[in-house]
Amino acid sequence: MQLVFATNNLNKLKEVQALIPSNIKLLSLKDIGCFEDVPETRNTIEGNATQKAEYIKEQYGFDCFADDTGLEVGALNGAPGVYSARYAGEQRSTQDNMNKLLEELTSKTNRNAQFKTVVALHLNNNLRTFTGICKGEITKTKHGDKGFGYDPIFKPNTFNETFAEMDLSLKNSIGHRGKAITKLVEFLKSI
Ligand code: IMP
Repeated sequence: MQLVFATNNLNKLKEVQALIPSNIKLLSLKDIGCFEDVPETRNTIEGNATQKAEYIKEQYGFDCFADDTGLEVGALNGAPGVYSARYAGEQRSTQDNMNKLLEELTSKTNRNAQFKTVVALHLNNNLRTFTGICKGEITKTKHGDKGFGYDPIFKPNTFNETFAEMDLSLKNSIGHRGKAITKLVEFLKSI
């Protein structure tokens, strides 16, 4: 089976490739000649994942899956959520996003947060979604240099290290995207 993973994020491709069975050939957007920005203009994580999968199917005709992730912080009523990538502005700077979040939380005692990933699969003209959640807390300072995005300030529950201090295999096994992709893989194996 051949499936497009609608992302240009090489970190994500690497994470997901490690979880997908080897009989499924994963194609990237580059592989199918898609170089434009895939629209993600909805105001929910589910909406964006679905919009991206539908776009690839409609414009390029490939069965595909797309993911969308947000970091939901309890003391900020779920922000930055669907706006995680551009929390500190349209320049989408990872460092600025983390700095803004740390600043917003300086006066808060509740630092609980969760990553939520929704994967939308467009297969044989059916659309399905798979959700993965990883609960944890926002640390007071940045730790580690692995991973990407908010990883240096997110410590999953029951661990003493941030995502950015973990090996990819550990992050994958307990992380939001790993959980959503595992559900996707179980579904693909069942059909
Ligand atoms: P996306 O929808 O998957 O592109 O994620 C939106 C934003 O959430 C990204 O720009 C990152 O800042 C952040 N993000 C997504 N996944 C992760 C992760 O696994 N670790 C840390 N940050 C993430």
